[in-house]
Amino acid sequence: MVAASLPVAPAETAPPRLTDSHGRVIHDLRVSVTDRCNYKCVYCRTGEVGAQYPELNIGEYLRLIRLFVDLGITKVRLTGGEPLLRHGLLDLLRELASLRTLWGEPLDLALTTNGHLLDSLARPLKDAGLQRVTVSMDAVDATIFERITRIPGSFETVLGGIRAARAAGLTPLKINCVLLRGFNDDQVEGFARFARAEDVAVRFIEFMPLEEGRLWSPEIVVPLREIVQRIRKIMPLVELPPPEASETARRYGFPDGRGEIGIIAPVTQAFCGACSRVRLTSDGKIRTCLFSQMEHDLYGRMRAGASDAELRDFIHRTVQGKEARHHIGEPGFLKPSRSMVHIGG
Ligand code: SAM
Repeated sequence: MVAASLPVAPAETAPPRLTDSHGRVIHDLRVSVTDRCNYKCVYCRTGEVGAQYPELNIGEYLRLIRLFVDLGITKVRLTGGEPLLRHGLLDLLRELASLRTLWGEPLDLALTTNGHLLDSLARPLKDAGLQRVTVSMDAVDATIFERITRIPGSFETVLGGIRAARAAGLTPLKINCVLLRGFNDDQVEGFARFARAEDVAVRFIEFMPLEEGRLWSPEIVVPLREIVQRIRKIMPLVELPPPEASETARRYGFPDGRGEIGIIAPVTQAFCGACSRVRLTSDGKIRTCLFSQMEHDLYGRMRAGASDAELRDFIHRTVQGKEARHHIGEPGFLKPSRSMVHIGG
């Protein structure tokens, strides 16, 4: 939902928005439903460790998500780990689809997946109420793709998943690609062609220091500027206006409107000032920033018997303390204790 287009209620009856102390309105909740994953992408996992954190049961996620919705959250994205591995996911989606925002609208419900199980699950996900998916795909060349995922046969499986998602109406379909110098940075032009051939939005994401191992360095990040310049050499790109103020991607279209390129540049062009997100980990901790050094144990309070009002108050106070920005690349920068797969990307 577009924050700016929310119905305007008279001041005395307008529900309070969830805001932080920097004046940002928080309306976007990312929920990890598991930190298990069936892929071992080289830039994400070492491949040595598996799940590290417990999972809540579906009813518990639902209660916690409802509390956020009571406070003004309008968009919920389910992620992980790999969310399609989570038993009970369809039940959770059915319940979430029946919720209404403070403004009486259905939630904007999305999911991020590696696509491995999408071929068989796309239709049930749609039927359960999911509106759209983002599929991660880090190469359009099968050999490079499988060198990254470390799963033989994964390229054709994911491609089948993407097509099944489109056929099921899980649209607009977005493809996420994390570019890494020396691994897949030669895929930029191929992805531009793929975006047009498949009529999908391909979003390049700059690699952030959130991996399990120690791969990240400024040199491995492929910056936004380079991606745009390279695509412009082979086809014309038109910059598109952001659909909402909190949009994280710089978006580019093609003159005939078929396909789209988005670039999410948290490293070289940080967008913290427009951040509208908060995260709930698979074990029920609130993270107010991907790079938070602190987590806030919402589930622990729920287990201890806190009422809904007490939990809402806790969420409210926690969000108030959201960090102004991340400090990637600055002296003294510390990686968070959890890596991306255990936070929920
Ligand atoms: N398993 C699902 C998937 O593959 O999309 C959801 C979880 S995954 C952690 C979510 C997204 O985070 C993926 O698009 C992945 O490429 C991205 N990601 C993982 N590690 C990252 C990093 N260090 N920097 C930027 N993006 C990262």
